Amino acid sequence: MLKPGLMMDRPLLISGLLEHSAAQNATQEVVSRETHGPTVRLSIAQIARRARQLANALRGLGLQPGDAVASIAWNNHRHLEAYYAVSGSGMVMHTCNPRLHPEQLVYILNHAEDRVVLFDSTFAPLVQAIADKCPHVKAWVCLSDAEHLPAAGGAVKPLAYEDLIAHQPDTFDWPEFDEKTGAVLCYTSGTTGNPKGVLYSHRAIVLNATTACLPDVLGLSTRESVLPVVPMFHINAWCIPYAAMVAGARIVLPGPRLDGASLYELMESEKVTISAGVPTIWMGLLQHVEQGGLRFSTMRLTAVGGSAMPRALIEKFNDVYGVEVRHGWGMTETAAIATLSNLSAADWEKPAEERHALVARQGKVVSGIEIKVVDEMGTTLPRDGTSQGELMVRGQWIVERYYKAERTALVDGWFPTGDIATIAPDGVMTIRDRTKDVIKSGGEWISSIDLENAAAGHPAVAQAAVIGIKHPKWDERPLLLLVRKPGAALEKDEILGFLAERVAKWWVPEDVVFLDALPVGGTGKVQKNELRKRYGGVFSGA
Ligand code: AMP
Repeated sequence: MLKPGLMMDRPLLISGLLEHSAAQNATQEVVSRETHGPTVRLSIAQIARRARQLANALRGLGLQPGDAVASIAWNNHRHLEAYYAVSGSGMVMHTCNPRLHPEQLVYILNHAEDRVVLFDSTFAPLVQAIADKCPHVKAWVCLSDAEHLPAAGGAVKPLAYEDLIAHQPDTFDWPEFDEKTGAVLCYTSGTTGNPKGVLYSHRAIVLNATTACLPDVLGLSTRESVLPVVPMFHINAWCIPYAAMVAGARIVLPGPRLDGASLYELMESEKVTISAGVPTIWMGLLQHVEQGGLRFSTMRLTAVGGSAMPRALIEKFNDVYGVEVRHGWGMTETAAIATLSNLSAADWEKPAEERHALVARQGKVVSGIEIKVVDEMGTTLPRDGTSQGELMVRGQWIVERYYKAERTALVDGWFPTGDIATIAPDGVMTIRDRTKDVIKSGGEWISSIDLENAAAGHPAVAQAAVIGIKHPKWDERPLLLLVRKPGAALEKDEILGFLAERVAKWWVPEDVVFLDALPVGGTGKVQKNELRKRYGGVFSGA
C-alpha cells in the first residue's frame, strides 16, 4: 500500500514569491521606464510595500477574493506591483493585450467580468472608447500619478494609481488558500473566433517560475539583470516577473518604447545580461546595432520564441555579437516556455554551422513538461526526426480547459497544440508549421517556416513570410512575401535562384510579392490569415 509523505503541506502561492524576495533581496533593484519617459528605480522592498498598499486599496474598493482585475499596460513597475497585489489577495489578474481589436477587448473584459481596470495612459483613448460597453467595471485606474493623468474628456474619470495607494498601510496579511486557485487569466489572440481564456493557477505559475530560473532555461540569479521585452500582457512575459523574484535577479522593465535604439540604450545603461522577446524585436535591435557599428558590453543571453527565429539572426547574435540565443516554444495554453534549445558541453564543441542548426530548432522540453507527435488518427509517431504530426503537450503548467468552458480541451489527457512538429531521437523538437499554415502541394507538405528561414538567409531580406495559394493542378503552392532591407536591391529571379540552391525544387515558391512591411498582430507574429486574405487567391500563372 502507498504510504503518505509526512512533510508539511505549504501551498505554492504567488504572494510567497514576493515576500521571499522582499526578505532575501530587499535592496535588489527594479528599474522601470515610465510611460511618460523617465527611468525610475525601486528596491524589491519598495515594490513589496507598494504591492501591499495596492492590495489594501483594492479591498477598500470592495473587491473580494475571486474577483477579476484587468490590466492594459506596458512592462513597468506598477504593472509588476499589480501582478502580486491582485493574485496575492486571491483575485484574478487578467492581463489584456492592448493590440486586440477593441471589440475583442470588450468581449474579454465582459467574459472575465473584470471589476477594476488598471491601464497605462497610452491606452486612455482606447479605454474611453470601450468603457460604456463594460458594465462590470466599477473603477478605471490609470497607472500614473495625478500629474500624469490623461487629459479630461470622455465618459470615464480615471483614478490615479498613486492617489489610490498613497494612504494605504504597507502591510497586508496575504490570505492562504489552495494552490490550485486561479491567479492569472490570459486570453489567446483569437485570430479566428473569440479569444479563449486560460486561467493559470498559483501552483502552475510558481512551478513554472522556479523552473525558468534553471541554468539551462533562463539561468536567472542574483547576479543577473533581466530585461523582459516580451510583454507582461502576453503569457506573463514568459513568467519572468515571477522567476526574477524566485532568483532575486535585477529586473529592468522597458515601458512602451521597444524600438531597437531604445532597447539598446537600456541594455547598455542598465548593464542587462539576459533578455527575452519575439524575433521581430531582435530584428529591430540588430538593425540598429549593425547600422551604428555598435557592440553589446554586458548582454550575454537572449531567449527568443513566439515564432520561429531565423537562423541568420541566430548566427549574427552568436558569432558577431557574442550573445547566446536560446530558442523556445510555448503558447498561451502552456503558460510560458515549454521547450528550449540549449546546447550541451558536447554541442559547444561542434562547428558553428551545426550549433546554429541546433538552435534553429525549438529544443527539448523543460522539466515538468512532456510532448509527443501524433498522426491524424491520434497514433503516436516515432521520435525519428522525420515523422511529422500534430504536437501534443501535457505537464504541470498546461491548460486543462478554457475559462468558463464546459468541456475539457484535452484529448486523452494531452493538449493538441495545432502545431506540426517532429521530434528527434535525442528529444529535440522542431516546429514545422501551424496546422493551418502548412502548405499541401501535390499531396506533399511544404513547411512555410523552413522556406521563410531559407529566404531570411539572403542578405537583402529583412522579413519573409510564406503562405499557400490555391493552385488548379497542385492544390496549393507556396507564395513568398518579402520585405527588402532598407536600400537593398533584390528581384524575384535572384531570390528564387537563391532558394533553388537551398530547398527541394518543388518547394521553390510559385511567385514572389515585395511589400513595404508585413502585417504584424498583437503578439508580434506575422498575420498569415491577413496575408492569405489579401494574396491567397487562385494562382493565375502570371
Ligand atoms: P500564442 O499563444 O499567441 O503565444 O501563440 C502560440 C503559437 O506560436 C504556437 O502554437 C506556435 O504556433 C507559435 N510559436 C511559438 N513559439 C514558436 C517558435 N519558437 N517557433 C515557431 N512557432 C512558434
